[in-house]
Amino acid sequence: MPAEKYIKMKEVSERLNRLAESATLAMARMSRELKAEGYDIIALSLGEPDFDTPDFIKESAKKAIDNNFSHYTPVPGLLELREAICAKFKRDNNLDFTVDQIVCSTGAKQSLANLCLSLLNPGDQVLLPCPFWVSYTEIIKLAEGIPVEIPSTIATDFKVTAEELEAAITPKTKLLMFSSPCNPSGTVYTKDELTSIAKMLEKYPDIYIISDEIYEHINFTDAHFSIGTIPSMKERTITVNGVSKGFAMTGWRVGFMGAPLWIAKACNKVQGQITSATCTIAQKATETAMVAEPKSVTTDMKNTFLKRRDILLEKLNEIPGIKCNIPKGAFYIFPDVSYYFGKNDGEETIENANDLCMYLLNKAHVALVSGDAFGNPECIRISYAASDEKLTEAVKRMKEKLAQLK
Ligand code: PMP
Ligand code: GLU
Repeated sequence: MPAEKYIKMKEVSERLNRLAESATLAMARMSRELKAEGYDIIALSLGEPDFDTPDFIKESAKKAIDNNFSHYTPVPGLLELREAICAKFKRDNNLDFTVDQIVCSTGAKQSLANLCLSLLNPGDQVLLPCPFWVSYTEIIKLAEGIPVEIPSTIATDFKVTAEELEAAITPKTKLLMFSSPCNPSGTVYTKDELTSIAKMLEKYPDIYIISDEIYEHINFTDAHFSIGTIPSMKERTITVNGVSKGFAMTGWRVGFMGAPLWIAKACNKVQGQITSATCTIAQKATETAMVAEPKSVTTDMKNTFLKRRDILLEKLNEIPGIKCNIPKGAFYIFPDVSYYFGKNDGEETIENANDLCMYLLNKAHVALVSGDAFGNPECIRISYAASDEKLTEAVKRMKEKLAQLK
């Protein structure tokens, strides 16, 4: 990805100089710029559903405006929204929370930042099974924590085991952070796998878990499992979720967490000094989304994603050297492309996944994200939150340009 990943700017703080720009947003920015210059870019870089927010949710927001929901709300969100979230956690995940344990934020991204700022002391370590979502490492670094990557490969469906996690634990380990379904691999950890991780963690009572379940409703196995339901993990797990993905509400900016009371209070304090509560109108829309029977809203979108996954997998598997796992959720494919490293099209040599992404952007006009920001530098991420036509055309262009690498 961009050479200016870590632009050194004398005027800004050391903290900022250590921070990488979000690789997903950087690629989205570059493809927007190229589009504005007139290039026909197919952007499969940003993880955002291409569906519109369902009408009944939009209607409730319009009503909220007319009913003057235009004032500040309590920092963690309107009471009725937090009640709806408690009911959702019980109904969908079998998790028990009281309203005081819920904190709504300006997206799940802020929930994660609130948590890291609340829980990490300088030098505390956070276990990150690879691959992980790009912002995890940078949010941890902002909070002066240390990301500890636990590698995985396509051979194990990008999963790590309890033993591999345990081998990375030190007296400084404070948190385990992961998403299932996973952005970027689409991997879904099963109940048995999470139970074995929980059993191992029982030996380490000072480690907390951030379970990022934002892709809960885009799970093709229909077997979503929340690690927080395991009794020994209940007081140590923070469950993060939101409406961006399942309800196609990325721009509304609402995420939330259910957490042990003292952690919810700490996050409330952080948020109270940084952003206050999220937008009141978006909170009312989220309340409507939470009350709705999720299957009635999310099933059609999920089935469309599944159909696209299969189209994309079939076409990618026809390209020599592209190795794919079968993603069980989310809307990404994360192929291993290391076959192309060292190859050359007569003009440039592909040294790594960053080079390959730039090659495909410049020569095939397809925008993807390099795997190194996700902790797997041999992979690239393809988002299939795009129409069948766009996906088909994108793979055709990729195939043609990859064939020129010898
Ligand atoms: N977690 C994961 C795994 C994600 O992919 C995203 C992407 N948006 C987020 C959290 C943050 O979502 P948002 O801030 O839009 O709620
Ligand atoms: N989470 C999405 C992605 O991975 C949205 C972009 C972002 O916030 O990073 O592409």
